[in-house]
Amino acid sequence: MLNVTVWNENRHEQKNPKVQEVYPEGIHGAIAHFLGKAEYNVQTATLDEPKHGLTKETLDKTDVLLWWGHIAHEEVRDDVVEKVHQRVLDGMGLIVLHSGHFSKIFKKLMGTSCDLKWREADEKERIWVVDPSHPITEGIGEYIELEKEEMYGEHFDIPAPDQLLFVSWFEGGEVFRSGCTYQRGKGKVFYFRPGHETYPTYYNEDVQKVMINAVQWAKPTELPKPVYGNAEPLELILKKS
Ligand code: ZN
Repeated sequence: MLNVTVWNENRHEQKNPKVQEVYPEGIHGAIAHFLGKAEYNVQTATLDEPKHGLTKETLDKTDVLLWWGHIAHEEVRDDVVEKVHQRVLDGMGLIVLHSGHFSKIFKKLMGTSCDLKWREADEKERIWVVDPSHPITEGIGEYIELEKEEMYGEHFDIPAPDQLLFVSWFEGGEVFRSGCTYQRGKGKVFYFRPGHETYPTYYNEDVQKVMINAVQWAKPTELPKPVYGNAEPLELILKKS
């Protein structure tokens, strides 16, 4: 069974009654609940725990890490970010959600500002599947429709994705690359846009399906350890005169 860790900043939940109402057990609690039902072995970790809950023991038991953060990206310790970054390069899967686009770990992996346009106006979002052959979009129809979401608009300052899976359309007219995959070292990274804290997005069954699929896709692969550095030739190299 795959080991999944859901990391959440968990600050809006403590400060904003509207968010508490939507996610009484926190965003991490809601995500852990449906991933657990999908038969993953799920644990959660939050910013205010020692080492933000991402101890060596926790990371040793993590095949795929999900990341939700927004107002406290700067409070995430650089040494923890460094450890998570190394784990990704070594093969741990990482799924970055919504406002996690500005997290230290995502910006470090991307190497760009990861900036975008945004607006909170209770508008409709239609998330179009643009890669129907990808395992992450399996079981989703042509699109996912969310009645109310925050708008994120282009330009989204990310490197060109390895695979672009979703493009969102918003009622106000903007579009956005909502589902992007990257490989960094031996690790797989998936960015998935929806999930503003005041909307019940993580209860949407299609959104859940995408995240369940993404965990499966991002799991580490069993590969022989690559060999680097100076190498002896495999064949006899003839002496050139
Ligand atoms: Zn948001």
